Amino acid sequence: MLEPHDTVAVALSGGKDSVTLLRVLWKLERRFPPARLIALTVDEGISGYRGEAISISREVCEDLKIEHVVVSFDELFGVTMDDVASRRNELKPCSYCGVLRRKALNESARRLGATKLATAHNLDDEAQTALINVMHGDVERILQASQTTTKAPASFIPRIKPLAEVLERETALYAYASGVRFQTTPCPHGHDALRGDIRVMLNRLELKRPGLKYTIARSFERLSETAEKIEERRAFRACKICGDPTPNDVCEACLMLRTLKTGSAIAFEGTPLTDRSR
Ligand code: SF4
Ligand code: ZN
Repeated sequence: MLEPHDTVAVALSGGKDSVTLLRVLWKLERRFPPARLIALTVDEGISGYRGEAISISREVCEDLKIEHVVVSFDELFGVTMDDVASRRNELKPCSYCGVLRRKALNESARRLGATKLATAHNLDDEAQTALINVMHGDVERILQASQTTTKAPASFIPRIKPLAEVLERETALYAYASGVRFQTTPCPHGHDALRGDIRVMLNRLELKRPGLKYTIARSFERLSETAEKIEERRAFRACKICGDPTPNDVCEACLMLRTLKTGSAIAFEGTPLTDRSR
């Protein structure tokens, strides 16, 4: 995920996960002098909530001597989440908030010259998101889950999730054990109700079947990896021998003909001949 010369922008909300992530990366970064950390806090404009988070984030960064940048929805997009939540919209406030926060983080990370953008999503978040996508029937999101960097435009800062395989309970334990301050007040605009239900269900199942959250998150990752491979294979080009469209250098027909004539099993490097009769 990380390279010695990376400038890592860390999304810092002031909650236990992001404070934990920042501390862990800070410990790592000290071993790599060319690497650099910048903490990035997004002020969504939520009164009675974000103020506390920003002051906690500032405190954490002062303590660790990490550069801290705060950007706001208001200055970037001319809206606040309080405005959005007070209107009747098609979607729930969290849907707008999530999309705009991602944009704010990406744009700011790019402006700051970051080479990676680290977010504090944990294993619970990943498993919940996977199941939410299934329940919404959002096949595209399911298949895109791990396709982040390969075909992304240059304006997209590669995103990393170092805690994606760490249980939420464990980041909480780390945060309590390291004695840092973090925000515990919930957002007044509320979390997605479906996510709340899925969280309760997954916690109950994980108690009976430890490892289940990991299996769910990993299955979806593999699903999107597989989709990516299939897509790559579907990218047709012209056969080097006959010019017909083929996903390989040489089409299957030419490969078969060549194999029949030469009697060799593998006629061209990297183009396996599959047995269709099975
Ligand atoms: Fe935004 Fe929803 Fe989180 Fe509040 S709960 S900060 S509105 S995503
Ligand atoms: Zn051919």
